[in-house]
Amino acid sequence: MISVERAELVAVGTELLLGEINDTNSAYLAQELAARSVDVYWSRRVGDNRARITEAILAALERADLVVLCGGLGPTDDDLTREAIADALGETPSVDPTLEAELRARFARFSRTMPAGNVKQAWLIASAEALPNPNGTAPGWFVRVEHGARTKVVVALPGPPRELVPMWLEQVVPRLRFPVATFAARTLKTFGIGESHLAERLVGLTERANPSVATYAKRDGVHVRIAAKAENADAAGALLAPVVRDVRARLDGHVWGEDADELAALVVARLRRDARTLVVIDGGTGGSLAELLGAIDDATDGTTGSGPLIGAVIAWRNEAMALLGVAYDGSAGRPPKDESEATVVAAELAERGRARCAADYGVGIAPWWSAPTETAPDRPTWGSAWAVAGPEGTEARPVSAPQSGHASRRERLAFTALVGLWTQLSKT
Ligand code: AMP
Ligand code: MG
Repeated sequence: MISVERAELVAVGTELLLGEINDTNSAYLAQELAARSVDVYWSRRVGDNRARITEAILAALERADLVVLCGGLGPTDDDLTREAIADALGETPSVDPTLEAELRARFARFSRTMPAGNVKQAWLIASAEALPNPNGTAPGWFVRVEHGARTKVVVALPGPPRELVPMWLEQVVPRLRFPVATFAARTLKTFGIGESHLAERLVGLTERANPSVATYAKRDGVHVRIAAKAENADAAGALLAPVVRDVRARLDGHVWGEDADELAALVVARLRRDARTLVVIDGGTGGSLAELLGAIDDATDGTTGSGPLIGAVIAWRNEAMALLGVAYDGSAGRPPKDESEATVVAAELAERGRARCAADYGVGIAPWWSAPTETAPDRPTWGSAWAVAGPEGTEARPVSAPQSGHASRRERLAFTALVGLWTQLSKT
């Protein structure tokens, strides 16, 4: 086993530079290495160019003791990872008879003759050990490199994730010794506070390196990740705990969950625990809210008809709303034209939906719209409001419309309503 502390990733493929495929391999490997306490300071993408791949390998070997390449192991002329490793180390590849026999046998199993180009998938260099690939034709390479006073490692993995992942876990990981230092991390999930306001509350914490505190804007709100590193898991946990408490205190009231928590799953689980039911009358998220809730296992329970989600009505206009005996006209006698009218209508939708379906909770979402004005001639003004009606009464609020695209705005509205629902449910 070879000890590694610092790794560098090199993803090979012109299609990565053109943005035609996403570099999910680098994301996977980065997470794997972080979980094993290996530092990654550089992660590069390079096209199918022999000289540039060689340069990337040489630069990485200066900085890191493990270089992981992915992609470029195919049979065609533009798959150049093997050539570049050989160039970087000043070695010459030759066909390995055992690998060639295995490759030919693989083609024979599928009753195909091997194209001449594939023979380079049986290449090896003197420093390389072949890593078997049961899921494809290209073996990987595990290359030992004497560099300075140390033994370093260059690994080449095939591009397709279904080949790369098992090869990494089954062939590469067992050959390496990782740092004993371990990591502890917690993610706190917040809603209703923007990233910059949140950052202000975390002043003094986000500058620190260990534990580190970082914020990430996600579709379900801003996540705060607190991570600590120490010589063992207990020590990392002890370092983490007071900072997690401190962050929680500073974000008082805005944290709805942590780590793997999903808002819709929390809502469905709570409704199920309390044997409560829910109906959604949706004139604003275009079904996003129903989609989030319905995606949770057991939300609807179609087979037994006993899930907490009774249903959702998505209706843009009164003709459709009339199916449920509710209307946007509400008490105003016409569709809402500002946020206070929309708030009243959302409450009516939630309450009438709840009553019509004999549900424990009703969520109503109402849009509002008003014609362009002289001060804003180019843009009509519009927005939405949400309401939750439940056994404890009704709560309704307007949502300020963020300046973002249609889909993300609807999703944001759905999450806002979900938070409102969760807030009411978590009081019970
Ligand atoms: P290659 O070995 O470079 O010919 O890549 C073969 C296939 O693997 C590509 O067509 C992609 O589908 C996939 N692939 C290659 N590189 C990556 C990467 N960095 N992330 C995700 N998929 C990749
Ligand atoms: Mg390629």
